[in-house]
Amino acid sequence: MKRITVLGSTGSIGTQTLDVVSMHPDQFAVEALAGGSNIKLLAEQAHLYQPKKVSVGTKQLAEEIRPLLPSGMELHWGDEGLVELAANTDADMVVTAVMGSVGLHSTLAAIEAGKQIGLANKETLVTAGHLVTERARAKGVPLLPIDSEHSAIFQCLNGERMKDVAHITLTASGGSFRDLTREQLLEVTVEDALKHPNWSMGAKITIDSATMVNKGLEVIEAHWLFGLDYEQIHVLLHPESIIHSYVEFVDTSIVAQLGNPDMRVPIQYALTYPKRMKSPAKPLSLAEVGKLHFKEMDFNRFPCLRLAFECGKMGGTAPTAFNAANEIAVARFLRGEIPFLHIEAIIERVLERHVNVNNPDLAAIEACDREVRSVAAGI
Ligand code: NDP
Ligand code: MG
Repeated sequence: MKRITVLGSTGSIGTQTLDVVSMHPDQFAVEALAGGSNIKLLAEQAHLYQPKKVSVGTKQLAEEIRPLLPSGMELHWGDEGLVELAANTDADMVVTAVMGSVGLHSTLAAIEAGKQIGLANKETLVTAGHLVTERARAKGVPLLPIDSEHSAIFQCLNGERMKDVAHITLTASGGSFRDLTREQLLEVTVEDALKHPNWSMGAKITIDSATMVNKGLEVIEAHWLFGLDYEQIHVLLHPESIIHSYVEFVDTSIVAQLGNPDMRVPIQYALTYPKRMKSPAKPLSLAEVGKLHFKEMDFNRFPCLRLAFECGKMGGTAPTAFNAANEIAVARFLRGEIPFLHIEAIIERVLERHVNVNNPDLAAIEACDREVRSVAAGI
């Protein structure tokens, strides 16, 4: 029986992780659950899965959820609550499914405690990739990717030598606005942006898909997870999201991972690795699909992807700044404060002013993150 802690259990990845747990009750048990503000759902999950510990976003929310929880269940809150659940339980694996760089401390705490990491929260690897991967290596802790593209690459690399890899290609659906011109993007609304053609996901990542920031974050995530140079990481538009990503080896052989878009497949693979188990996902019929389409990525149409590559290559605190500027800009867009194209404008402005710090420690990363958030909020 594998014991799982889910940080962000009330979100899109969190609820699908619990679906996977429910499908294999003889394989998995829930050790602890952390949510943010959706206390109704978290309380339901607490009754259903009987975790030992629960955590919510704030002290006030903790007071509100207390009467809704099974009596005697241990309750925590805030950033310390996430860290407590990440490190101080008997969990074998911690699934990091909170949104944004708020997940950094708890991911590091779980690694220090020797927990396997089911990594959905890509922002932590973008903001502090060198620290997270160095600590994971030092502690001998596997970072098992949940992001579908990285799970695909991870599966394609199984049993291969990294020196035989020529390059990897991350596929991108293009998000909700893939067929619009930049002129048409001037007019789009929050509602339009939240309609992703292939995947049903949390609000922030859905906007990130439309700006192509998500693919930029994934390029940096891939650099850290697989230790590849940025020149070895390619991006290709593939509107159907059937080929989740692929690896080309030095002998020109390409190995790809395919399937219908369903996050429960990569989530389950992270939970069961190196084994596989039955999944409720709809099997893929290529005969039914008939045709797949691909298109070269246009870096002028999607400037945020170009910026992400530049920040990744620069290293230091540049990716931290890129991520923090985006988190603030997306939150402002979702609140209706700025138009869609101002997301990339804010990121650009922040990066123009950013003074890069090389090889930053945790304190330098946090200082950069704080400063960029306040700058981005004022642009
Ligand atoms: P959601 O917005 O759906 O869920 C986010 C979760 O984090 C919720 O449980 C939320 O709680 C919780 N949360 C947010 N802030 C805090 C906080 N300060 N303290 C504690 N909990 C908090 O996001 P997704 O599930 O879509 O994404 C989660 C992560 O997974 C992101 O990093 C995303 O990039 C990544 N990812 C997501 C994919 C997807 O298909 N959704 C695919 C690949 C990666 P509450 O709702 O209760 O407030
Ligand atoms: Mg992805």
